[in-house]
Amino acid sequence: KRTLRLVLGDQLNEGHSWFAEVKDNVVYVMMEMRQETDYVTHHIQKVTAFFSAMRTFSVKMKSKGHDFIYLKINDTDNEQSLPENIKKLIEEHGFEHFEYLLPDEYRLDEQIKKFCKEVSISSNAVDTEHFLTKRDDIAQFFRGKKQFLMENFYRKMRKDHDILMNGKDPVGDKWNFDHENRNKYKGEVPIPPAYSYKIDVSEVVKDIEKAGIKTIGIIDQENFHWPIDRKQALQFARYFCRELLPYFGTYQDAMHTEEKFLFHSRISFALNSKLISPKELVEKVIKAWEEDSDKINIAQVEGYIRQVIGWREYMRGIYWAKMPEYADKNYFEHTRKLPNFYWTGKTKMKCMEKSIKQSLTEAYAHHIQRLMVTGNFALLNMTNPDEVDKWYLGVYIDAIEWVEITNTRGMSQFADGGIVGSKPYLSSANYMHKMSNYCSDCYYDHKKKVGDKACPFNSLYWNFYNTHRDKLEKNQRIAMMYRTWDKKSNDEKEDLLTQADYYLHHVDDL
Ligand code: FAD
Repeated sequence: KRTLRLVLGDQLNEGHSWFAEVKDNVVYVMMEMRQETDYVTHHIQKVTAFFSAMRTFSVKMKSKGHDFIYLKINDTDNEQSLPENIKKLIEEHGFEHFEYLLPDEYRLDEQIKKFCKEVSISSNAVDTEHFLTKRDDIAQFFRGKKQFLMENFYRKMRKDHDILMNGKDPVGDKWNFDHENRNKYKGEVPIPPAYSYKIDVSEVVKDIEKAGIKTIGIIDQENFHWPIDRKQALQFARYFCRELLPYFGTYQDAMHTEEKFLFHSRISFALNSKLISPKELVEKVIKAWEEDSDKINIAQVEGYIRQVIGWREYMRGIYWAKMPEYADKNYFEHTRKLPNFYWTGKTKMKCMEKSIKQSLTEAYAHHIQRLMVTGNFALLNMTNPDEVDKWYLGVYIDAIEWVEITNTRGMSQFADGGIVGSKPYLSSANYMHKMSNYCSDCYYDHKKKVGDKACPFNSLYWNFYNTHRDKLEKNQRIAMMYRTWDKKSNDEKEDLLTQADYYLHHVDDL
């Protein structure tokens, strides 16, 4: 049967069994489409990275002999919609069978399933052969449980895949080395330069502009530095293992005004577009550690591996267990809009200014900036999670809904009421000061809770707990906060709440 096989933009897995041999009766299709560029306003670097990686992938596959149809964004025969394009191709080329790789996004999964029901030819879906788990493994693992504890899932992953195991025991006799990690960065060791090379993406950018696609952020067209093919992804991984892994865990949560990337791997785009697989990444990390255990200790390695085989697979499993209801969750019933400075970085709060400006210039912020700075503030501002999701889904190079929404709506906004996390990630200026040098260079005073130049995080923090007492007080992990709050004098409480109220009313001026 003449078969049409669909490859989506985040399915660039060269090692997939589909490509093991060239088949005469199979044609592959890849498409740049407005339905994908317009479902949210994306960062210009994100659209550029996807289109560049897709084009490079199709050229390489063609050179290996595979028959590829590639629709560029401005092609006149591009209908800009997935079902419309596929329907047209089936009619024009007389395909008798349609195959696709399982999408990672619910939106696309539904769209393609619907299309397959309607179309007259036969169809089937196959796995992307990328993740270590299947879509519904998490749902099975946590059947009947209200809360899905990541730690339990992670230990099972370690055992099932025999990763960092000594027989039945974890290497180093501990599953988790967090308390040895997570230091503030005070320049103790130099940070190696961010891995980079020159890729000229000006042609792709020209096409995006010609198409009139609305984007956010900025791009350096001649010096774009995200990996867009497998070779570059492997180079990123190699650089990480050699230069950054030795301090990855130690400074995993650190933030610094002059350092955007610290010891992070910046591999998320390559992973999420499937240029590199989690399995091979983990193997490389373990090999680097085995070869150089004087320089790299277990705490660094375990810290990294937990992110890749723990958090990443876990978030995907939550997504498939909880969609589509997850996308509407709003536990705190927040309705406020996201402050304007999320789109400009123009705020006097140094931590926010740095994290947002970096997101707009680099399409990147590391985990703690996303969680404890911008996410934390959005939560303290009692922002509608729809608004928060739109920002995160647009701004980051690695943002694909399955991993964005679970992190944003779940981990960062606690809008799921405690599926992903057991309590909201909230902090006052204390945490910012402890983990970064942002506060020393800030207009606001991190030590002040009320009055002129008091750091907004401080009063908003108490205001949040006070506002949501009914929803949080019974949570064992938070009860202590309420005891501290109750011990404050009425005057102190009133001052804090008045300050917070003022800030919430003038949030765009902060
Ligand atoms: P490193 O710090 O070097 O970590 C290595 C890898 O571990 C990452 O590339 C990533 O694949 C994985 N990882 C680490 N933490 C997580 C996590 N919490 N969930 C899933 N995978 C993780 N990650 C995305 O890939 N896409 C997103 O859209 C996204 N949105 C986020 C939104 C919020 C509010 C938060 C708090 C986190 C989000 N993350 C997201 C998770 C994490 O911040 C990024 O994966 C990470 O910053 C990517 O940079 P890196 O490759 O340098 O990561």
